Amino acid sequence: MATTTRKRYLLIGNGASGTYAAETIRKTDTEGEITLLTNEPYPLYNRVALPPFLRDEAKREKVFLRTPEQHAQKGIKLLVNTPIVSVNTRERVATSADGQVFPYDRLLVATGGRPNPLPAPGATPEVHGIYNFQYWDDATAIRDRMDTAKHAVVVGGSYIAYELAEAFRHHGLAVTWLIRGPRFLRRVLDEDGGALVDDIGRLAGVDIQYGGEVAEVHCRDGQVCGVTDTKGNHIACDVIGVGLGVKMNVDFLKDTPITVRNGVVTNEYLETNVPDVFAAGDVAEFFDVSIGLHNQMGTWNNSVSHGRIAGANMLGERKFYNDVPMYSTGLFDSRIRVMGLTPENVPDLESWEHLDAPSRNYQRLFFKDGRLVGGCLIGDIKMQTRIIQMIQARQVTPESERGKLLAA
Ligand SMILES: Cc1cc2nc3c(=O)[nH]c(=O)nc-3n(C[C@H](O)[C@H](O)[C@H](O)COP(=O)(O)OP(=O)(O)OC[C@H]3O[C@@H](n4cnc5c(N)ncnc54)[C@H](O)[C@@H]3O)c2cc1C
Repeated sequence: MATTTRKRYLLIGNGASGTYAAETIRKTDTEGEITLLTNEPYPLYNRVALPPFLRDEAKREKVFLRTPEQHAQKGIKLLVNTPIVSVNTRERVATSADGQVFPYDRLLVATGGRPNPLPAPGATPEVHGIYNFQYWDDATAIRDRMDTAKHAVVVGGSYIAYELAEAFRHHGLAVTWLIRGPRFLRRVLDEDGGALVDDIGRLAGVDIQYGGEVAEVHCRDGQVCGVTDTKGNHIACDVIGVGLGVKMNVDFLKDTPITVRNGVVTNEYLETNVPDVFAAGDVAEFFDVSIGLHNQMGTWNNSVSHGRIAGANMLGERKFYNDVPMYSTGLFDSRIRVMGLTPENVPDLESWEHLDAPSRNYQRLFFKDGRLVGGCLIGDIKMQTRIIQMIQARQVTPESERGKLLAA
C-alpha cells in the first residue's frame, strides 16, 4: 500500500516572518502542502515602507512585495481574509472564523501584534479622524485625510508616533505631539538624547509636549475636532495619530497548552513547548542565545530572519537566531539607529553616552557583564558597523576602555 509523506505546513500570518518561512520551506520541500493564512486582504507588503508612502516617497508598487500569482507559482496557497480563531494541538487543526478547518503537520504562529487604540473617552470607532498606523488600510486612510486636515495631534513616545508626526509635518499640517513620558524612547535615550530629539523635532516645526496624555476626544458631526489633555489644555485638531504600542495576536491560542507570556514562548530554534508548533517574528518571545534570556523584537530584519530560521527548522534543521537586530529610521532632518539590546528589552544595562550638541550627534552604548550588547546613534551613524561587529565579537571591554569607544 502506498503511503504519503507529503507534509502539511500551516502558517498563520503572512507578514515578513510567515511569508519568508513559507518560501524557505518551499525551496527544500517541493511536494509539501503549504498554506499561508492572513486576516488581512493582501499578500505581503512592507510595513517599513508605509512611512515613506505617507510622505509620497514610495508608491503602492514599492510597498507591496508579493502578488497572489507569485505565491501560486511557488505552490504556496495564500488565503486572505481568513482569521484563525482557534487551534487544537491534539488534533493538529486550526479553525477560521468562517468555520474552515485546516489540518497541519507543522504549524507556524507568525501573527505579529495589533495596535492599541487611543484609550480616551470620545475616541470611539464611529468618530472619523483617529488613526493607528500598522496596516496598509491605515496608511491609505491617513494619506487621504492629510489632503484636507490642518492640525494633527500625535500621541505616543516611540517610532510609530514619530513617523506620524513626520508625515503630518511633511504635508504642512500643524503638529502637536503628546508624549506621556519625559522624552522620546524614554528607555533607550538618556536626558541628553531626549533633549536632542526635542531640539530636532522643534526645528522641524513640531510642538512636543511631555508628561501629558489625551484625557478626552471631542468631535463635531462625527469628525474629530479637538482633544483635552490630562493637564487641562484644549488642543483643536482635525486628525489624531496614535502610536501607543501593540498587543500580540495570541488570543486564538488560549485553549491550547502552548506557553504564551507577552508573546509565544519558544526556544532558540523557535519551537514552542508543543511539538511541531513554531513561532516567529514580532509575536515570538524567543530564547536569545546572545543574552541567554528570552527576548522579543519588533523589527523587519528580525522578522525576515526568524521566518527563514523557522522555515528551515520546520523542515527538520536546527538553526537559531544569532543576528544583531537594528531599527533604523529617519528623525526629521536627522536619523536614528538602535542596535542590539537596550533597556527596552533588558533592564539594568550599564550605559555610556556622548552628546555633541553643536553638530547634533549622539551616541549611547549598552553593556552587559562588560560586553557591548547594544547602542543608539543619532545624527552621525558611521559607528554602526563597528558597534555591530563588537556586539558580535562578544568580547569583554575593560571598564577603563568603555567610555573611550564613544566618538572614537
Ligand atoms: C508603520 C510601521 C513602520 C515600521 N518601520 C520599521 C522600520 O523602520 N524598521 C524596522 O526594523 N521595523 C519597522 N517596523 C516593524 C516591522 O514592520 C515589524 O517588526 C514586522 O513587519 C513584523 O513582521 P511579522 O511577520 O512578525 O508580523 P506582521 O507583519 O504583523 O504580520 C502578521 C500578520 O498576521 C495577521 N494575523 C494576526 N492574527 C491573525 C489571525 N488570528 N489569523 C490570521 N492572520 C492573523 C496580521 O493581520 C498580519 O497580517 C514598522 C512597523 C510599522 C507598522
